[in-house]
Amino acid sequence: MKNPPALDHLISALKVLPGVGPKSAQRMAFHLLQRDHKGAEKLARALDRALTQLTHCQRCNTFSETELCHLCADETRRQDQLCIVEMPADLMMLEQAKCFEGLYFVLMGRLSPLDNVGPKDLNLDKLLARALDGRVEEVVLATNFTAEGEVTAHMLSELLKDKGVRVSRIARGMPVGGELEYVDLGTLAQAVYERRGV
Ligand SMILES: [Zn+2]
Repeated sequence: MKNPPALDHLISALKVLPGVGPKSAQRMAFHLLQRDHKGAEKLARALDRALTQLTHCQRCNTFSETELCHLCADETRRQDQLCIVEMPADLMMLEQAKCFEGLYFVLMGRLSPLDNVGPKDLNLDKLLARALDGRVEEVVLATNFTAEGEVTAHMLSELLKDKGVRVSRIARGMPVGGELEYVDLGTLAQAVYERRGV
């Protein structure tokens, strides 16, 4: 027996999620349709709204519904410090740790040769324009302490120092292989305070 096309379509759509294979996609589809119709409607609406209304902040590249995100629009933030992170979740962690008063740039990724992510995929033109706006005096590299995060930090420090920008890297209080998203806030704050020039 074959599935109705609409069901097959939903199952194959769910497989776009990371780590979701055919079996779990099928389970999710049955769950949404059979057990949680309201949840499914909510999900469909949220996805539609996010896709139509979210864009990238013109300055920091994070997700935003407005041209400038609320952080970049906040005049009380220090304009002379720019912290580079991999993902919006890292920015949220640093904000929760309350250890940084400057502004951010979100790469929306990291160098990852195995996944075919090279420098051209990391919005480097946008980053350079941001770092060279004439007000930024220090760029703080807060990519993860994974192999990919370290390679990314190295590439960025070379790129920025080449343009005469002062660059620092958050300190290694972080566990080796550590991802910002998963360390405790105290450790993260300490790593920012003890950052070193590179
Ligand atoms: Zn922004």
